[in-house]
Amino acid sequence: MPQTKWVYTFGNGAAEGRAEMKNLLGGKGANLAEMSSLGLPVPPGFTITTEVCNAYYDNEKTYPEGVSAQVDEALKAMEGVVGSRFGDASNPLLVSVRSGARASMPGMMDTVLNLGLNDETVAGLIAVSGDERFAYDSYRRFITMYSDVVLGVDHFHFEDILDLYKEDNGLILDTDLGAEDWKKLVVEYKAKVEEETGSPFPQDPRDQLWGAINAVFASWMNQRAETYRKLHDIPRSWGTAVNVQAMVFGNRGDDCATGVAFTRNPSTGEKAFYGEFLINAQGEDVVAGIRTPQNLTLKGKEDNNSDLPAMEEVMPEVFKQLDEVRTRLEKHYRDMQDIEFTVQAGQLYMLQTRNGKRTAQAALQIAVDMVEEDLITPEEAVQRIEPASLDQLLHPTLDPDAERKVIARGLPASPGAASGEIVFTADIAEKKAAAGASVILCRLETSPEDIHGMHAATGIVTARGGMTSHAAVVARGMGRPCVSGAGELRIDSKHNTIMVGELTLKEGDIITLDGGTGEIMLGSIPTIEPELTGNFAKLMEWADKTRRLRVRTNAETPADCQVARNFGAEGIGLCRTEHMFFDADRIVAVREMILADSEEGRRKALAKILPMQRQDFTEIFRIMSGLPVTIRLLDPPLHEFLPHGDAEMQEVADAAGVPVSKLHERAVKLAEANPMLGHRGCRLGISYPEIYEMQARAIFEAAIAVQKEGKDQVEPEIMIPLVGLRKELEILRALVERVADEVFAEQGARVKYLVGTMIELPRAALRAADIAGSADFFSFGTNDLTQTTFGLSRDDAGAFLGTYEQRGIIEKDPFVSLDQDGVGELVALGSERGRSTRADLKLGICGEHGGDPASVAFCHRTGLDYVSCSPFRVPIARLAAAQASLKGE
Ligand code: PEP
Ligand code: MG
Repeated sequence: MPQTKWVYTFGNGAAEGRAEMKNLLGGKGANLAEMSSLGLPVPPGFTITTEVCNAYYDNEKTYPEGVSAQVDEALKAMEGVVGSRFGDASNPLLVSVRSGARASMPGMMDTVLNLGLNDETVAGLIAVSGDERFAYDSYRRFITMYSDVVLGVDHFHFEDILDLYKEDNGLILDTDLGAEDWKKLVVEYKAKVEEETGSPFPQDPRDQLWGAINAVFASWMNQRAETYRKLHDIPRSWGTAVNVQAMVFGNRGDDCATGVAFTRNPSTGEKAFYGEFLINAQGEDVVAGIRTPQNLTLKGKEDNNSDLPAMEEVMPEVFKQLDEVRTRLEKHYRDMQDIEFTVQAGQLYMLQTRNGKRTAQAALQIAVDMVEEDLITPEEAVQRIEPASLDQLLHPTLDPDAERKVIARGLPASPGAASGEIVFTADIAEKKAAAGASVILCRLETSPEDIHGMHAATGIVTARGGMTSHAAVVARGMGRPCVSGAGELRIDSKHNTIMVGELTLKEGDIITLDGGTGEIMLGSIPTIEPELTGNFAKLMEWADKTRRLRVRTNAETPADCQVARNFGAEGIGLCRTEHMFFDADRIVAVREMILADSEEGRRKALAKILPMQRQDFTEIFRIMSGLPVTIRLLDPPLHEFLPHGDAEMQEVADAAGVPVSKLHERAVKLAEANPMLGHRGCRLGISYPEIYEMQARAIFEAAIAVQKEGKDQVEPEIMIPLVGLRKELEILRALVERVADEVFAEQGARVKYLVGTMIELPRAALRAADIAGSADFFSFGTNDLTQTTFGLSRDDAGAFLGTYEQRGIIEKDPFVSLDQDGVGELVALGSERGRSTRADLKLGICGEHGGDPASVAFCHRTGLDYVSCSPFRVPIARLAAAQASLKGE
């Protein structure tokens, strides 16, 4: 049997892997291989596959046979290319060890640099570099990183030793320390490691290497990585690869540098090279946000008001080379790239390329520009945008005319406006947000430990860090507005205060930030609605051309209907009439109706509601003219409309002219042990037909009135909720038809209309073939259908579903994303059975799932005619429907 290939080499203009092998080599490994094959300057190295990671975890953390030998062989090949040997005391090969999963998980897992240094090889590094200080500095960095990542000796131990050393010797900055200082510190660091772990710091480079490989695989299961995976829907089973690569040094003098760049602006999408670098610095220094980086281009320097020289000025040759690499990578990958590079002694090395994370605004700009540049097709552009990310564009921005008191400026790291209470820690951000507060997380800088707080916050501010700092990258990925590097803010997280100028802010104070301009303002500032024109409109037009599934909205107020129509809704899929019953001007009559003892009494009260309902529907029909409007007859149990507190009870009793005892009596009578499964939905229509009669009359009278105004045809679709038995629908359908005939006769005019039902109960789905005999359409009410299929109360599930998700019992909250296996099977079965009776049965979905991209794709595959979702999700559903079509499912 041929041996499994566990290790893939790259470098020297060749590679065993390719960009398409991301699943096996991880994103980083696959792209290093690709760049190598393209002939770009990539330090040689090798990738240990994700299959090794999975095998390692499947076999109680042991490696499959052959891995070790293949690593040795790859190491040898690397030595050949570089011309130095691993562990050689005179000319040592040093390596970096990094993780690299299929999807990029910035900052989530561990990295070790300068591996291969020990008491002997450090002498070799001095000989080769001719720089003793650099060699000892590298060695102490290696000890710090390795001890932290592999040996579990925390960073702060080394920081403390360093601080003490500086104090004792009257030194302030790291750059004040010379070779002798670092040399002494290396001795102290090693002693600390021995003290903490009980063993000396490992000197054998091979032990070091395997220690680091083990640590990278272990980091796949750490808490940060788990959280990130959960937030981004990355399955644990993907595993991570490990990349071992020859070190190049950006910290070997002033002709060395390290940097990160985007081939286009990741915030706005502008076609401009965009990045930052640090001279004489190593690896993570840029991302860590410890020093303020310099811009690559003069334009960037200007845009960011930087005083520091741009690379274009100080390293013009390297910049030119890098700019060429940028063009080549974009042409090759046909997408915006996020790259990492190092310059060693004036020579450029590429360390990474990947498709860059970007804001929704940038994603649109880039997709539209790339179509115009003939790099991609409109269909590809449609597939490039994450539907859920459109949310970022659909929300208000700061009113430009509103007064604003700017207290500080930072970098415009992630666009959008946010107001909220200042908080200083991720945990408090999470806690306050869970209690419903809007919070702005303010940190000196963020780290991967803060990710849950960043997610919970409505906005993020950091005092340090550039446009590619952790805060900036993560905020953009999450769509959170962010201002980074606001150096004027003195954030004191010990005392929970921010000092800025004369001002002292504390936890709970309200600030507003504009991530598009970098401004931070005092107090809360009014916002304006977004305009959906330009790139957005263009992309939506491309999306609409490719989708089959129609998109309607769930709305009942004229304002919501208008927003939805502006967002491209093609009708209303659910108008919940009970929301209209709660309006202050009619709740009195509604309660009067509930309190009435007789049908006659109820009819009297309903007659008062009729004109108001008619007015509601008239306004909706006007806005939606030419489009179908599905109106659901009354659904909730009647006691929901009764007052609760004693004072309110008395008020209602007085208004209705009945003693308060009667109200109590009625409330007791209407009380149910399990109202969600009680006297609601069509059961109300059966018990109190006069309610549904009034509603049907209001609908038909409104439709005829609007039609008489000369508007385009209105198509009411009258929907009966919570049907479980065909007989229920038959009775209520006959009622609606009778009222229609009455109104048509009175008005001397007719409108086209449909009568259908919601499928919200498993019995209705199972008996769909029978029920379809009385229905013109079905609309799957997947909120209730999820509740009734799981036997899971939608009002109480929040208390424990979180635990279910954490423990992996469910992947996603089934009230948010359709449980396709279970509830979905009922939807598919109900559709199929319904259509077996009526081939032209119109099918839609109006539960919350109608705006969830994964559920939209499911509805497309299942052959539904439309989805209906809340107004702000209409564009998301349009795009998700187009992507589902393009996937050809
Ligand atoms: C449903 O049950 O899915 C539905 C849309 O109705 P409601 O949420 O009003 O119960
Ligand atoms: Mg329902």
